[in-house]
Parts: sequence; C-alpha cells; structure tokens
Amino acid sequence: MKTYQDFTNYLKNYPDENGRFGEFGGQYLPPELVPAFEEITQAYQEISHSAQFINELRRIRKEFQGRPTPVYHCERLSRLFGACQIYLKREDLNHTGAHKLNHCMGEGLLAKHMGKKKIIAETGAGQHGVALATAAAYFGLECDIYMGEVDIAKQHPNVIRMKMLGANVIPVTHGLKTLKEAVDAAFEGYLKEYKDAIYCIGSVVGPHPFPMMVRDFQAVVGFEARDQFVEMTGELPDAVCACVGGGSNAAGMFAGFLDQPVDIYGIEPLGRGSGIGDHAASMAYGTKGVLHGFESYVLQDEKGEPLPVYSIASGLDYPAVGPEHAYLRDCGRVRYETVSDEEAMEAFFYLCRYEGIIPAIESAHAVAYAMRYAKAHHHGTILVNLSGRGDKDIDYVYEKYGTGEQFFQK
Ligand SMILES: *Cc1c(COP(=O)(O)O)cnc(C)c1O
Repeated sequence: MKTYQDFTNYLKNYPDENGRFGEFGGQYLPPELVPAFEEITQAYQEISHSAQFINELRRIRKEFQGRPTPVYHCERLSRLFGACQIYLKREDLNHTGAHKLNHCMGEGLLAKHMGKKKIIAETGAGQHGVALATAAAYFGLECDIYMGEVDIAKQHPNVIRMKMLGANVIPVTHGLKTLKEAVDAAFEGYLKEYKDAIYCIGSVVGPHPFPMMVRDFQAVVGFEARDQFVEMTGELPDAVCACVGGGSNAAGMFAGFLDQPVDIYGIEPLGRGSGIGDHAASMAYGTKGVLHGFESYVLQDEKGEPLPVYSIASGLDYPAVGPEHAYLRDCGRVRYETVSDEEAMEAFFYLCRYEGIIPAIESAHAVAYAMRYAKAHHHGTILVNLSGRGDKDIDYVYEKYGTGEQFFQK
C-alpha cells in the first residue's frame, strides 16, 4: 500500500514511456493508427515543455475561460451535519459550465501547434461535443462531432449548441445508435483524415497519450484548489472527493493532492443498484480488461464485451474507467466509493436549497459523498470538485422529481 509520501514526483514519472500506470493503460491500436498516435505523443512531449505553449494556455485560461474558478465554503449546508465543513471547487463557473473545457482548450492548442485543420471526436450526452466545438471556434479549426441518432434526439439543446458554434454533427445510424457506435465511427473518420486532423478524447481514457494529456490539462483544477484552500483556511483539507465517469475531473483534482497528507475519494455511480445494467461502477464491479485502446477495470461479460451501463447522470455512464484510477485504487492511495441515483438527487436539491447552486447531476454524486462524510466525521474539512452546473439537467429533473419537496419532508 502506498501513502502520499510515495507520490513525490509522481506526475513526472507516471505514466511511464509506454503509457502505463503500473499494469494499466498502454496503447492498443489498429496498426494504421500507430503513426498518428506517435505523432501526437511526440508533439505533446515537445510542446508541454515549451514556454510559449504554457504561456498561451495560461492566458486562455485567464481571459477566455475565466480561471481561476473560486473555492467556496458551504456554511449553511455544513451546519446541517455538525462541525465538519464542506467546500466546493467551482468548476461549474468555468466557461461553458463544466471542467471539460480545460482539456478541450489544451487539445485545441495542441492541434493548432501541430498545424492540423480539424478536430474530431464523438459525444454521448453532448457535453464533450459542446466543449470541443467551443475550442474549435476559438482556434478557427473545423470540428466533426460523431453522435448516435438516439443521443441526437435525446440531447437536442446540446446538438443546437454545437451547430451554433460551427461544428458538423454527424449522425451515427448503425447498431444501438449511441456512444459506443459513435466512438467507432469517430475512429473511422479519423483514420481517413489523420494527416489533417486530430482526434480529441473527452476524458482520461483511450490509448496513450490521452490519459496523460487530459490529466495534465485538468491538473490546473487541483493545483488551484490546493493553493486557494490553504490561503482561505491556513491548512490543507482533510479530504477531497470528485465523481468518476471516465475520470477526468477527478484526475485533475487529485493531481493537486496525491503527494499531500490528504485522504482522497473517487465516487462512482451506483445508479439503481448493483445488478448488471443498473449502474456504471466500473471499479466496484468490473474486472481487468481492454476497452477503447487501453487496459483498466471494465464492466464486461466473459467474452470481454462491454456490459450495459446506467446512471441518472449521463456523463457518468461509461463501462470502464481511466487507467490512472485503476492504478490509484490498487496501490491504495485513493479510495473509491459508490453513490446511488437517489443519494445524488438528494444532494442535488440540498445544494440548490441551502447554497443557491444548481449542480450537474454528475457533480451531485460527489456532493452526496461529502454529505455522507460530514455525517460520519464530526470535525475536519472536505473539498468537493463541483465538476459542472446543472442547467442542462433541470427539465429532466423537474419531470422526474418536481422541485424536490419530498427530499425535505423526512
Ligand atoms: C462529463 C462530465 C463528468 C464525467 O466525466 P469525467 O471524465 O469523469 O470527469 C462529470 N461532471 C460533468 C459536469 C461532466 O460534464
């Protein structure tokens, strides 16, 4: 078991040059794509050390994204549970309303430096598509977003946003017409155009170097949060937590605390329960396997086919998890816990009523864990990564839960 003291220089040494976090990660690619990924890896290695790239990204974060986002003390919410204090890192106040823009702007800047004309990606609920379309508009790049026809019908506002931002939304009409087919179609599109285009992944998943690059671009969240928290309170938090879908907002938050004496919790979606198809808790119920070009914990059947997954938060329903999280769990540095739909919705409404913040349902999973933590610990502090705002969710929530009265009548 490793402790924080084993994590000095971790971010420089992990992943290794083969993209491995211990036994996880790597690069499982069709042979035709190996040179394209080699080009991306080399360009990133050069650029991430260049003062020009670092300064440009710093300026974009400040002037375009509105960073640093604040850290906020939830005084009214904390008072409900006793003396333990809950704090939020407000990624919901990042431009476009979530953390995803942090890595999309990094990927866009990389594309620009590589002389690419186009960025290509798939999207499920449309959040990654909107963030990437925003980056494409900023950098003057073309943008192809592959999206399943079923998701296009479900996520109408995000489809409109992408089109307004100038992206081509390409419907995927085969199979179940959702995210898995969109991933395949995006890879096929990329295969045809990789000389002029770059593929941009939406989380800390996929073949090397994406889990590393996306983690590095998101690390700004953890570094800012640590400095801000220490400035506010004079000490480190006792614990930090973040929700885990693919794991990008969590990886960014954790990067600031792995080498510090702080307990770290990643929160997976338990959905309706532990049955197959009722949740998307890949580490709680998955097994080791390879999916979408990397090795990690995967919810899969005996043949290695991904199992159906579900969460009330569409951004969390992915049948695997970024390889770095698999490593951080197995070495004992981070604990992963689960939160159900109902617990997440209770936290959603508590944050609305007691703090005036409507969170994304994804982020409400992390808030729910902080509430559980505050009930169990009668002192100390917990810092939550509030990964996004909930405007995208209100129609769905209202239809299913009304304005949440039932959560306050207990
Ligand atoms: C996409 C999304 C997530 C899940 O993605 P991670 O890569 O696990 O961070 C969480 N919160 C919000 C608001 C999202 O849009």
